[in-house]
Amino acid sequence: MKIYTKILIGMLVGAVVGLTLGPQSPLLEADLYHVHSAEQVTLLADPEDPDSELPLPPEAELRLSKLDVVTTSKVDASGDRHEIPELARVSFRFSRHMALFDDKGPVRGSDREVLREKERGDLRALLGAPRTGQRVEAWLVFETIELDGGGFVTTPEPISELGLTIISYLSPIGELFMRLIMMVIVPLVFASLLVGIASLGDIRKLGRLGGKTLGLYLATTATAITIGLVSAHLVNPGGFVGERDRAALQAQFDQDADDQVAAAAEAPSTVENLLQIVPENPVASMTEGDMLQIIFFAVLFGIALTLVKSDRSRQVVGFFDTVQQAMIVIIHMVMAVAPFGVAALIAEVLGSSGFSVLKALVVYGLTVLLGLAILAGGVYGGLVRVIAKVGWIRFMKAARPAQLIGFSTSSSAAALPVTMQCARDNLGVSRPVSSFVLPLGSTVNMDGTALYQGVAAVFIAQVFTGGDLSLGTQISMVLAATMASIGAAGVPGAGMITLAMVLTTAGIPTEGIALILGVDRILDMFRTGVNVTGDLAVTSVMAATEGEKLDPMSSDADQSDPDRGFEGRLDREPSPVDLEDDK
Ligand code: ASP
Repeated sequence: MKIYTKILIGMLVGAVVGLTLGPQSPLLEADLYHVHSAEQVTLLADPEDPDSELPLPPEAELRLSKLDVVTTSKVDASGDRHEIPELARVSFRFSRHMALFDDKGPVRGSDREVLREKERGDLRALLGAPRTGQRVEAWLVFETIELDGGGFVTTPEPISELGLTIISYLSPIGELFMRLIMMVIVPLVFASLLVGIASLGDIRKLGRLGGKTLGLYLATTATAITIGLVSAHLVNPGGFVGERDRAALQAQFDQDADDQVAAAAEAPSTVENLLQIVPENPVASMTEGDMLQIIFFAVLFGIALTLVKSDRSRQVVGFFDTVQQAMIVIIHMVMAVAPFGVAALIAEVLGSSGFSVLKALVVYGLTVLLGLAILAGGVYGGLVRVIAKVGWIRFMKAARPAQLIGFSTSSSAAALPVTMQCARDNLGVSRPVSSFVLPLGSTVNMDGTALYQGVAAVFIAQVFTGGDLSLGTQISMVLAATMASIGAAGVPGAGMITLAMVLTTAGIPTEGIALILGVDRILDMFRTGVNVTGDLAVTSVMAATEGEKLDPMSSDADQSDPDRGFEGRLDREPSPVDLEDDK
């Protein structure tokens, strides 16, 4: 069976496991309130006494098992009576973190007046002097929001404890897979870029290629966000979100949205970003995996090697060439376990996304997908057909392994080694071009992300302000999203942070991020798949403009040639490295 078939099966199994056995599964009992930070909820030791609030460490994650729920009857504005949950008796483990926090004495730095007055040992006293690790009981107070249109929304909502446990067992498998591919990135990018540049010989050619590449990357990104803006205006996804969904989403994700906005506020300015490309210490850039700095140094190093006498530089280039080959072999090994890693990653993402959230945001999600399809089919299809002279289907087939890894890891950086392999072997792009254009693209070019930001911004504006955005505002959003996509790292959720900047540019309320957070991780998979596809499309075009003729590899050639493609390399007999040979 081919490797992508196996990966696809892994994805499918992961999706089924995540949806049926995950924390949000409708089949399992919802018996746990999972609170990401204690600050978000109020817990009382005594349900009758509002002063008995537990002084918990504000940032502590809480897993509150549901024991009983006390409901109350409330009349809404339109005179209808509703039975809504008011308090839940819950139990949780008294953790070491809580014990240490309790030992520290008066609680400072929390914005809750009540907590400030608590003294050392108060938490233990309120809970009946528990030992660390012991289960204790308390009362969770539900937050209730009354809707203008009638009815109430209460938070938090329970999930399945069993589901959470199952997913937490699967999660290390996904993490292991991610780490295995991330491990290869720095040596692979550095070695292949250095070899590529050194073998190019002509420095002017490099300058020309760099200029063209950046130009086309920027052009595709600006096109992408424009498609996003137009699709969102045509479909009007904001019109499909009722008041109830809006209030529920806002209540559920407000805190997380604040975190995103805070992260965006810390982002450096454009000048700083540009300066950051030049490393102070290239070894540090490598240890930190700073891709643009690594590219910068590798390019200069490669150029320098072409200026050193060739019999000396040949050894260095030969060394890195072998490093590069070995990294590719590691990627083949990792791809052999990819189906399992991918299954675990997908199960985790789908398992944690609730159906109610998906339902509320379905039109928004579909608008993003529609835009992405237009981008991948129309724009990339046209570019590769017209300039690189490769049919769209052949191109998509060649890009498939990279798309699958991008999709399942939600990280174009993690997919980079596979993307490079696709460009070289599956599409037939030369090494100098692929090893320069792709690492640059994985950080600089995020078309899927830019498109999604266009849709998200208009959607939030539609929900909050009716969606009136002037043409000038939208043009500034195109510029902001293009710049933001250069600054965003190719990691899961990066686009969400830069979205906050785009919203600020357009004067759209950043609290709106709470609306879309629930489906963000799922859309992240699709937009990352498109980011990777965009990088490959631009690489094909660049190769064509450098006079290369692309030759996508057939699957038979992949199967039969162990040195190309994704199949067969590990079937070869290993032979020990004999250093005596060269003497
Ligand atoms: N996950 C995306 C990527 O790695 C970035 C984003 O849109 O969040 O390409």
